Amino acid sequence: MSEVNGKVVIITGASSGLGEAAAKMLAAKGAKLVLGARREERLKQLADEITQAGGEAIYQTVDVTHRDQVEALAKAAKDKFGRIDVLVNNAGLMPLAPLDELKIDEWDQMIDVNIKGVMYGVGAVLPTMREQHAGHIINLSSVAGHVVFPGAAVYCATKYAVKAISEGIRQESNGEIRSTNISPGAVATELTDHISHKDSKEMADDLYNDAIDSDAIARAITFAIEQPGEVDVNEMIIRPTKQE
Ligand code: NDP
Repeated sequence: MSEVNGKVVIITGASSGLGEAAAKMLAAKGAKLVLGARREERLKQLADEITQAGGEAIYQTVDVTHRDQVEALAKAAKDKFGRIDVLVNNAGLMPLAPLDELKIDEWDQMIDVNIKGVMYGVGAVLPTMREQHAGHIINLSSVAGHVVFPGAAVYCATKYAVKAISEGIRQESNGEIRSTNISPGAVATELTDHISHKDSKEMADDLYNDAIDSDAIARAITFAIEQPGEVDVNEMIIRPTKQE
């Protein structure tokens, strides 16, 4: 039996890109999905698709910058399925721009979603995972959590923070909670659509010419989950072969 089968998995940012791809792959392997994001129609479509294919999924709108909404998502998982095995802390955004552009609202947004949203997720599932003496938190960092590149100081800062959070969870796991930090390179999703700075958008479009498919990251997430309980996959970097 696959270690994925029957597991209750919460995914934030499930309405597109990596979250959506992971949801489909895990559902096909028998996971019970709890899908969260802001765009309800997209979540509904995905949940319907999963259910029609014979899988199990519920959805709930969540803005991860609101702690109460993240807690409500975790509660929905417990109410429906009785436990929480995995949280995929995936919601994130990347509005790149040089610091001199002073896009301070975008700095705030990245810090709120990419860092605070991730911490709210951890806070929402940790008590349940402690009660269960088991759980698995998978955080989406980035290659930008390992190297800093021009126009990405704040985005990189948030992804370095995610990496630190993942390592902190691992160190404090008491041998009960698995922690996986996943660092993708360029993956073809909607992530670059929200870059408002023209030169940064062009730079990203250039880098994303060689972007790989979301399924590559869905496979990495699946790999981490399907390891036996005593095996904790802590760190994965998945880049396009052509990415420098
Ligand atoms: P997408 O833009 O396709 O997906 C981002 C997801 O995050 C959407 O489902 C969006 O849903 C959700 N989201 C954004 N803001 C919020 C919010 N406030 N509350 C709840 N959900 C929110 O991009 P990706 O799939 O590529 O991104 C997923 C993660 O992977 C991000 O953390 C990103 O930084 C990371 N990553 C992606 C890489 C890539 O090249 N694609 C490379 C490295 C890391 P909605 O708008 O409906 O709320």
